[in-house]
Amino acid sequence: MRNALDKNNQTTLIYNAMKIKFRPVLLILLLASWQVFGQANGKLQIHFIDVGQGDGALLISPQGEMVLFDDGALKYCDKPVAYLHELGVKQIDYHITSHYHSDHIGCCAQVLGDFPLQKDALDRGHSYNSAVYQSYVATVGAHRKTADTNIVIVLDAGSAHPVTIRVVAVNANGINTVDENDLSLDCVIQFDSFKAEIGGDLSGHDTPTYKDIERPQHQ
Ligand SMILES: [Zn+2]
Repeated sequence: MRNALDKNNQTTLIYNAMKIKFRPVLLILLLASWQVFGQANGKLQIHFIDVGQGDGALLISPQGEMVLFDDGALKYCDKPVAYLHELGVKQIDYHITSHYHSDHIGCCAQVLGDFPLQKDALDRGHSYNSAVYQSYVATVGAHRKTADTNIVIVLDAGSAHPVTIRVVAVNANGINTVDENDLSLDCVIQFDSFKAEIGGDLSGHDTPTYKDIERPQHQ
């Protein structure tokens, strides 16, 4: 998926994720304290990073756990690295790989080199013939864990308002396809009544080349 958001658009998306009504005065006040967003602030934050092409999104739980969904494209790795430094991020707790295309895992080595991975690196558990894939596998090392639909990551586990990340689809959930995009992990994030879905390059519809993987998971 092409992603060409500028910082103002990213900011708007973050506000949408927090369900804060957008007002110019509020924007000025919050931009003045931009660094605060990189730390636990009691709110769920989802930052859709401008990674040039492909995807890279950072979830920060209300108590400060960090989950990276994909990490960007190899030729633009300065973008996610700079953005995470600007936020004041120090480490990544979980890395979730949607699929193995180079615009989704191309910056794994650079990003996790600056922001060390603490817990699991989830992916669809297959192999892929590319140098970028080999770099990803080498970088995550023993943190690597195969995703399945029984997996639920619980963030802020001891709090009254935990954040959960459920894997609802992986490897097309039995639907017959060989398209790498269709094999993407589909994750549902839940925080109280708020829900968001992050599904890599799943298309959500049937075409001559794509299968609809998402819709059956939400019926
Ligand atoms: Zn793809």
